[in-house]
Amino acid sequence: MTSEFALIRQYFTRPSTHANLGVGDDAALISPSAGMEIAISTDMLVAGTHFFTDAAPHDIGWKALAVNISDMAAMGAQPRWATLAIALPEADETWIAEFTKGFFDCAGKFEVDLIGGDTTRGPLNISVTIFGEVPQDQALRRDGARIGDDIWVSGYLGSAAAGLAHLQGKIALKNDALQASLDALHRPMPRAELGLRLRGLAHSAIDISDGLAADLGHILQASNIGADISYAAIPKLPALEASIHAGFEACVLNGGDDYELCFTAPQDKRGIIGNVGQELNLNLTRIGNIRAGNGLTVYDANNQPISMRKSGYDHFSP
Ligand code: ADP
Ligand code: MG
Repeated sequence: MTSEFALIRQYFTRPSTHANLGVGDDAALISPSAGMEIAISTDMLVAGTHFFTDAAPHDIGWKALAVNISDMAAMGAQPRWATLAIALPEADETWIAEFTKGFFDCAGKFEVDLIGGDTTRGPLNISVTIFGEVPQDQALRRDGARIGDDIWVSGYLGSAAAGLAHLQGKIALKNDALQASLDALHRPMPRAELGLRLRGLAHSAIDISDGLAADLGHILQASNIGADISYAAIPKLPALEASIHAGFEACVLNGGDDYELCFTAPQDKRGIIGNVGQELNLNLTRIGNIRAGNGLTVYDANNQPISMRKSGYDHFSP
């Protein structure tokens, strides 16, 4: 039986590049760069709630860190350090090896150091805290949207929710549509670089973890302002739009787990933002505008408001 300490040494200890002291002591030591504020965020993944217990451990490891990096992107912060608290039902080393491979694949790609954590026995539960750096007063907050701002989103929406609906047996996807939606669900790609490029351009930003309607709703509430968006303008993967006949609208408007960025920016920044999208080879789409008042109105192709029964995924609502 492998001890907790051997597991930590073998699987969770890697050299850190940006920390003064990483895994192995009672605490890690970090120093922010001059003029930077530290952005901190935690996201927990619970087996059975956020992923299927039998999901591929590599994907779980990737996603556990990716969703946290997404929060840094949404703040315009450079992700730097992370801690990992994990409860494991047993010391299944094959599972742990694959999980840490997924986690460190993501950490390597986005240059995040794992600097500490906690390892304990219990129902499978993974909690990551991430620390990033952003220049003083340049963070992209939810409360900065202004009347007249364009509303933008990155990537395509509804894909991860379509993948989940497929796994739940609610819809049956095939071929490209199936592959794309499962990739979106299992291996979200946080828009870290976009978040950095939006400093000084966007007035407000959020990452779409709980669905566009809910997350844009958070910007509107924090900024005390309203918005009109066009359903037709929301970017969707053509393969999915073509193959899902009922329920895709709900995936696009209310589906969680896309981890794209939704941001608002003044209209005179359209050209610069367009260039950023091209340089990053990332689809950036204008879907509507911020207006006076409050609440979100989504218009259909005939310019009629779409009524929204449920907005976003909320763990505590029935
Ligand atoms: P303590 O008992 O002092 O809290 P631990 O035995 O829990 O120390 O942890 C020893 C070291 O290993 C600490 O530096 C801690 O941050 C690190 N650590 C423990 N579990 C993990 C993990 N899952 N990922 C990364 N670091 C970990
Ligand atoms: Mg401890």
